[in-house]
Amino acid sequence: MSSELRFDGKVTVVTGAGGGLGRAYALWFAERGSAVVVNDLGGSASGEGSGRAADVVVNEIKAKGGKAVADYNSVEEGDKIVQTAIDNFGRIDILVNNAGILRDKSVVNTSDNDWDLIHRVHLRGSFVTTRAAWPHFRKQNYGRIIMTSSVAGIYGNFGQSNYSAAKLGLLGLSNTLSIEGKKYNIHCNTIVPMAGSRLTKGILPPDMMEGMRPDLVAPVVLWLCHDSCADTGSVIEAAAGWVGKYRWERTKGMTLRESTNDPILPEAVRDNWEQISDFNNSLHPKGSEASMLLGKVLQDLMEKDANR
Ligand code: NAD
Repeated sequence: MSSELRFDGKVTVVTGAGGGLGRAYALWFAERGSAVVVNDLGGSASGEGSGRAADVVVNEIKAKGGKAVADYNSVEEGDKIVQTAIDNFGRIDILVNNAGILRDKSVVNTSDNDWDLIHRVHLRGSFVTTRAAWPHFRKQNYGRIIMTSSVAGIYGNFGQSNYSAAKLGLLGLSNTLSIEGKKYNIHCNTIVPMAGSRLTKGILPPDMMEGMRPDLVAPVVLWLCHDSCADTGSVIEAAAGWVGKYRWERTKGMTLRESTNDPILPEAVRDNWEQISDFNNSLHPKGSEASMLLGKVLQDLMEKDANR
């Protein structure tokens, strides 16, 4: 096809880029001309300790002639990570919120700390890092943000109540940021990846670990962060070279009363459950459109009242 997608002059921050998917994103962005902040706390897969995994990736990028700097802060202190970009490269254009850990346990065995730590790293970490980048994006009227969700967040998964709640929370965050960012040319999209990495070792069989290489997901993230990609508020699933999109689907539904003065009874909900649940002629509302649809229900009832 046409010209190569380039990121020359851009500065990209990738959190959790010391290994797995983040490393692949960092290498690809650098390969395509972006300077990269390779952030990684370097702890264990369940969030203990710290280390210098980011150095290895920075050295890989530099060995290929790219520009990169390591950052060892936790995403819980995302403002420091953004500051690393400003101090070293003078700007930030792209933020890939990717850092993550697991504390998998069935809900009854999930301690407060297992719940809180997962939320602090995934959801709060993405929030504070994005909040720190936002004023820079606003000022330059340009910014690209990626949130990282998971099929566990979208569909649920046994033993991942903490993780799935945080991961779906990231989708909610992205939905709102895509609305708030529109007038400043700040785009926010969500990736739902699947790849062989430290987090999926022991979950994916060995041949799938090899076949689902993180660098098969990275090109999707690059496209979503490019100037020429108009998407914002999108949710993209990617694995093993396959790429697809999600959207919400809602039944057409029905109004269970004739006038604004009517109540509705539980029996009316029961008696109409089949039609309420009928996905034929369903709708795919997006953004604020969804609440406007409900506003229209009330308006229709009020019009009916007025014409009586
Ligand atoms: P990974 O363990 O290889 O990479 C995650 C990196 O984040 C690690 O290098 C880790 O040190 C770093 N990190 C952890 N806590 C941090 C913190 N507080 N601050 C900074 N860095 C921190 O795992 P991965 O599979 O590459 O995961 C990347 C992201 O993709 C995660 O958010 C994960 O939940 C998500 N994800 C992965 C899959 C998959 O199939 N691999 C599926 C769905 C979602």
